[in-house]
Amino acid sequence: MTQGSSRSGDGTPEVVVLGAGPAGLTASYELSRQGVRTTVVEKSPHAIGGISQTASYKGFKFDIGGHRFFTKIPEVNQIWHEILTTDFLKRPRLSRIYYKNKFFHYPLKPVDALRKMGVSDTMQVLGSYAWAKMFPSKEEVNFEQWVSNRFGKKLYSMFFKTYTEKVWGMPCTELGADWAAQRIKNLSLGTAIKKALFSKKGDATVTTLIDEFEYPRFGPGQMWETCRDILVERGHDVLMGRAVETIHHRDGKITGVSVKDVDGRVEHLPATHVISSIPLGEALRRLDPKPPADVLAAADKLRYRDFLTVSLVLTGEDLFPDNWIYVHSPDVHLGRIQNFKNWSPDMVPDRSKTCLGLEYFVFEGQGLWAEPDDKLVELGGVELEQLGLASRRDVEDGTVVRMEKAYPVYDGVFQAAVDTMRSWLTANLPDLQQVGRNGQHRYNNQDHSMLTALYAARNVLGENLDVWQVNTESEYHETMDRGQPRRVDETKQPATV
Ligand SMILES: Cc1cc2nc3c(=O)[nH]c(=O)nc-3n(C[C@H](O)[C@H](O)[C@H](O)COP(=O)(O)OP(=O)(O)OC[C@H]3O[C@@H](n4cnc5c(N)ncnc54)[C@H](O)[C@@H]3O)c2cc1C
Repeated sequence: MTQGSSRSGDGTPEVVVLGAGPAGLTASYELSRQGVRTTVVEKSPHAIGGISQTASYKGFKFDIGGHRFFTKIPEVNQIWHEILTTDFLKRPRLSRIYYKNKFFHYPLKPVDALRKMGVSDTMQVLGSYAWAKMFPSKEEVNFEQWVSNRFGKKLYSMFFKTYTEKVWGMPCTELGADWAAQRIKNLSLGTAIKKALFSKKGDATVTTLIDEFEYPRFGPGQMWETCRDILVERGHDVLMGRAVETIHHRDGKITGVSVKDVDGRVEHLPATHVISSIPLGEALRRLDPKPPADVLAAADKLRYRDFLTVSLVLTGEDLFPDNWIYVHSPDVHLGRIQNFKNWSPDMVPDRSKTCLGLEYFVFEGQGLWAEPDDKLVELGGVELEQLGLASRRDVEDGTVVRMEKAYPVYDGVFQAAVDTMRSWLTANLPDLQQVGRNGQHRYNNQDHSMLTALYAARNVLGENLDVWQVNTESEYHETMDRGQPRRVDETKQPATV
């Protein structure tokens, strides 16, 4: 074991930040503004940005899921613009749903949808909607019942069921109704139609977040790599290829963190504060001394859905105009397709080619996750052809990136488990602050992940902010309202009307 050097004996906080994703880097960035040095440790040997990294293959760049930059938090917006003073583009958005060989505009536009559905499906949609209004399911405990009661069975089966089941890998009858309520709140078929039909062009109620978003010229990784560069310039250490082994504490105080490098060497970093964006359960399990048995049992209860991207390089300049397409078709495994050139033209080094990210929702170690990369690249070509988006002969090359723990699962036990861990941490070890997405086991996008980190950094500086109060769910909405940006997180939620 090597000993890292203690940086202060004068009461200056010694802060070790766990994870170099948006949350970890933001914590460090905020402290750097106040002149407090940090050490960031990241288990990946090369990738900066966590789930918000940009991967690269022979010069073609792609995200782990397309990452839009949008927020209603001014401080977060300011940080993005401080980090990327140039190269932060405003991009137009087009996304559609593929269903039964047709492309429906997303968010759904009733006229477009009715035209594409045809008479028979339209009659069934209206009939089943009327039926649901007159005879709603009395029991509303699962996702299927909740959505069908509001939209009718037909719309549910067209635009909710398949995609949701692909994302979560379980039947909608096993997903809780509260999950649906949380993700699709404040929306009914009636209001969706009214908004789509009666909102005027240019109306502040249907503005920029729907039609455009910000995006770094070379993908989200550019934001976080630039942030890393700023931190290093300001004298911070960003240690790559260091996995957290142990978080040491004594008498309610943090004393240090041990990390293991890729060659198995263990290094001890003294610390008075830890800001941690590593998965909540893992952080608790890595404590020395260990927390009580009920806390450890809670740590073992958290589950995740994992994710893989098959990134294909294809011949062809302009395959389709969308940024991304939701695939609501049960005939193929893939759930969503990103066309990265439409996010930013600089994501491809050769304009005569296209780079697509085919997204598969999986469980680590099982099914497609365990397939060899060449098989997955082949599958990607076959499925693209099946959807009529490209010929598999046009696929020139491809690669696969697997991302574990992409989605924290909200099942029947997660909330109680999180509450147990949070209460114990708050009462017993306040200088270990859990931030970010998996750090809090929350569906945070970058902005809320960053906000938890800003709070944690300010707490190190003496403020008393509750990092767990940053609430993402309360702000998920479908449109902007009177110039007040509201959020759409359809990156993960089922497509909704
Ligand atoms: C498919 C998909 C699409 C998305 N789209 C958007 C979008 O459009 N807009 C948006 O704003 N957000 C989007 N998000 C959410 C966004 O990716 C996350 O909010 C953000 O990356 C979370 O940041 P974080 O730092 O909390 O966690 P992460 O990005 O997960 O970073 C955590 C870091 O900790 C490291 N780590 C983990 N364990 C250890 C360990 N033991 N030791 C050391 N390091 C460790 C990891 O390697 C990682 O680098 C999307 C997410 C997904 C899955």
